[in-house]
Amino acid sequence: MSAGSEPTRLLADRRTLLKCAGAGLATLIAPGVTLTAFGAEKRPAGEPASAKVRWGMLIDSSKCAADCDRCVSACRDENGWGSTGHPDSDPQWIRKVALRDPKSGLERSLPVMCQHCANPACVDVCPTGASFKRADGIVLVDRHICIGCRYCMMACPYKARSFVHEPIEEQKTVAPRGKGTVEGCTLCVDRVDAGKKPACVEACAAEASGAMTFGDLNDPDSDIAKAIAALPTTQIRSDLGMDPGVRYRNL
Ligand code: SF4
Ligand code: SF4
Repeated sequence: MSAGSEPTRLLADRRTLLKCAGAGLATLIAPGVTLTAFGAEKRPAGEPASAKVRWGMLIDSSKCAADCDRCVSACRDENGWGSTGHPDSDPQWIRKVALRDPKSGLERSLPVMCQHCANPACVDVCPTGASFKRADGIVLVDRHICIGCRYCMMACPYKARSFVHEPIEEQKTVAPRGKGTVEGCTLCVDRVDAGKKPACVEACAAEASGAMTFGDLNDPDSDIAKAIAALPTTQIRSDLGMDPGVRYRNL
């Protein structure tokens, strides 16, 4: 696939991000599969995240309008990141990426964020342990021990992390941030622990096309697991062996 400005960076810098994303641009939709229920429960205070669960997301790129960025604005509002006045170094926890298949001319616009990999390169390279994966698959940064070396940013093939260059005066209590540290999508871990969906998923369902499904990949009865079992889905750059928890349909 080839692409415009943002994908040019993505694909040129990373050399065929979607090279192994799947064979062609399938448009298969299984009849009778509805992606509505969630069914997560609030995690009791003091109870650790469980390895029985693996949180993930399924994004149907065929439902994603090119001019829609509701997921991005919802993330920004929820987590308090935004423009710093220096566009080259603005944080980007989630971004829309445009793709075009040169053979068919088919275009897609999809949100890309931290893929919450099962085998995350960011964790492997972090010298302090600040990058870590919870038992339930959510990959986070402990800002208290992040030294801002940015090894994780270099290692991540999804361009999913940002470095905070500016002092931060106003921030959300659910998403502490700090100058000199690295940050990225947390899957709205505080919301997930409270039994809710990530803000992007909720906003997309309420105010856009409902292209995003969140749930437990390990639960065969969850909508996300049933959809992945029934439908062709894609992990971006699955060839890297990092096993992203974010999957895409119709890519
Ligand atoms: Fe780490 Fe990047 Fe994978 Fe997120 S997408 S878990 S930052 S390697
Ligand atoms: Fe770890 Fe922080 Fe360095 Fe990333 S920037 S590798 S999280 S210490």
